[in-house]
Amino acid sequence: MKSRLLIIEDNPNNRYLVTFLLTKGGHEVFEAETGSSGLDMAIKIKPDLILLDIQLPEMDGYSVMRHLKQHPQLKSIPIVAVTSYAMPGDRQKCLDAGAEGYIEKPIDPSSFVFEVEQFLEASDKGGR
Ligand code: MN
Repeated sequence: MKSRLLIIEDNPNNRYLVTFLLTKGGHEVFEAETGSSGLDMAIKIKPDLILLDIQLPEMDGYSVMRHLKQHPQLKSIPIVAVTSYAMPGDRQKCLDAGAEGYIEKPIDPSSFVFEVEQFLEASDKGGR
């Protein structure tokens, strides 16, 4: 089940790792470095799932989520927050903002692809 995934993340090392792991897992991965370029790319490529860093410069992840959820063609795309924020209540804040789930950094290479695929399956966006 090859899926089209979009990662919005400002840290190049994290982008590299996420793309490497998901591509190795057989998925098609698109990268965006900022919230606004991520929104543009989401409109263009219509991904099956969006992996979203919360700590982004300018437009943060919560703001990106709000924009996605207000967009008629993007609001049904599942969002998984990927963040190192370890603040209490942060997970709930992501879910309240419309994320399907939450993967904590540092990314664990042994389980990351599996975790993402669980979200794809749960959202019934697993194949195309
Ligand atoms: Mn970041």
